Amino acid sequence: MKYVYGPVPSRRLGSSLGIDPIPLKTCNYQCVYCQLGKTTCFTNMRKNYAPKFEILREIEIALKISENIVDYITFVGSGEPTLYKDLKDLIIKLKELSNKPVCIITNGGLLNNNQVQEALMLADVVLPSLDGGDKETFLKINRPHPAIKFDEVIQGFIDFKKFFNGKFWIEIMLVKGINDSKDQLLKIKNIIDKIEPDRIDINVPIRPPAEKWVKIPDEKIISVLDEILGDYNNINFPEIGNFAYYSSNFEKEFLSLIQRHPMRQEQIIETFTSEGLDGDAILSKLQTLAHQQKIERIDYLNSTYWELKR
Ligand code: SF4
Repeated sequence: MKYVYGPVPSRRLGSSLGIDPIPLKTCNYQCVYCQLGKTTCFTNMRKNYAPKFEILREIEIALKISENIVDYITFVGSGEPTLYKDLKDLIIKLKELSNKPVCIITNGGLLNNNQVQEALMLADVVLPSLDGGDKETFLKINRPHPAIKFDEVIQGFIDFKKFFNGKFWIEIMLVKGINDSKDQLLKIKNIIDKIEPDRIDINVPIRPPAEKWVKIPDEKIISVLDEILGDYNNINFPEIGNFAYYSSNFEKEFLSLIQRHPMRQEQIIETFTSEGLDGDAILSKLQTLAHQQKIERIDYLNSTYWELKR
């Protein structure tokens, strides 16, 4: 499948069926920590990047196979999902097809856009990012499209949350030396108090980031977070569980999964080990794909990851 993947284990959402209507690295941000690599299509244009009927056809097939085993249906993936112009239609159709809660993982940069607000109001959970407490830090860490202004983004969060009936969970990605100081966290907290989210998720770049200089904050950040944020949810741990796939074609299914994010080698082996395929056979397939320049090995934080060759 091209636009639907999983179920995948998610650190915040249990088992999640992913809907990915945006081409790889099509985004209005260029986050320094992005696990998908550098943004190659840097745009703020909302359009239907893939035919709606094809996405819906795949959703119907995937729901028949895995609706019973997923906790959430999540718009996420290779780019920023709110750039899909008819996102509202996709959510309406999903709600007709399934009772599972619909989530949108977004950078939040378009939450001040009326059409995006209308679409996201239909979701059950919206998970936007808030990484900078001021304009300078926002520009440094998220490197947004010039049409996206910090104050307008924050106002969009505040306005949307006021009328949204679902859950609004803000994620803060902490990067050492950029937004992990007490001063920055106080600024973020000040904004959060105006938004009043239902939950704050703290994350750190546990997968290989777009910029090699990006580092995880020191452990001492925990006491600062406790002091400033008080109640927050630490999601700094690897996902547990296997990724699902739809055919026995290892190369096709594996390349489709790592399009969404790099995978740890152990997780690849756990996911694809079957009667005909053991760990050694999988490692040999990985070497072949690397030799063919389709994937590359990245050593990051004492783990081996494999990602698409960039
Ligand atoms: S992390 Fe998300 S918002 Fe940031 S560049 Fe990557 S896809 Fe875009």
